[in-house]
Amino acid sequence: MYTCPYIFYKNMLFEVITIFPEIINGYMKTGVLGRALEKKKIEVRAHDLRDWTTDKHKSVDDTPYGGGAGMVMKVEPIYKALKSLKKVKKRKVILLSAKGKQWNQQLAKKYSKDLQSMVFICGRYEGIDERVLVLVDEEISIGDYVLTGGELGALTIMDSVARLIPGVLGNNASLDMESHSKPGVLEYPQYTKPEKIVLNKKTYKVPPILLSGDHPKIAEWRMKHTKKKK
Ligand code: SAM
Repeated sequence: MYTCPYIFYKNMLFEVITIFPEIINGYMKTGVLGRALEKKKIEVRAHDLRDWTTDKHKSVDDTPYGGGAGMVMKVEPIYKALKSLKKVKKRKVILLSAKGKQWNQQLAKKYSKDLQSMVFICGRYEGIDERVLVLVDEEISIGDYVLTGGELGALTIMDSVARLIPGVLGNNASLDMESHSKPGVLEYPQYTKPEKIVLNKKTYKVPPILLSGDHPKIAEWRMKHTKKKK
């Protein structure tokens, strides 16, 4: 009898390989994402990389060949961690790296539709042994700066993908008009109560059109005040 080697996920499975799983679990259990977990719209598994080490110190890093400052993460524990994961169809393994392709809203949209699972490898120290690249599908950066670890990158990507999954946000309509839903387009200004407020001795009022109840005119105003990214 044929048994399919893959697990099929209706919703999104995120797996994170990290030496700080508590960072991932703390954030992902909060607010909108926490509710998405409860509703089983997403599933998150944070794996402690040290579980795949063999020495008594649970070392995940070593000195760099060729010398130089800092430590480099070893590839064997990462290889073992990846091998231990259940196979899932439509999955991408992503290495967080300052050298990677830059993450953006268009990729978040594509992956939220196309994928059933994303696996993140979070570097620390001076980075990871270059041979890790043969184990990953993509190397992704969240911006042109250097962080101390890949966890914020993994959280950024998971957050931006998860909120696009149908049923995760209370009101999916808000996704159509928000910043970056079309490349380079930024959302119109938003206001809430009170209508009038004094800040630093100056009075600031809500634009009167937003109080008019004239919805075609409000839509026109919003369209006019939608900005283009500089
Ligand atoms: N020496 C590396 C370099 O110059 O590119 C930086 C290593 S950084 C201190 C440690 C880890 O943080 C990286 O392996 C990566 O996983 C993560 N990281 C740092 N900056 C990042 C960024 N902009 N986007 C995604 N991950 C990043």
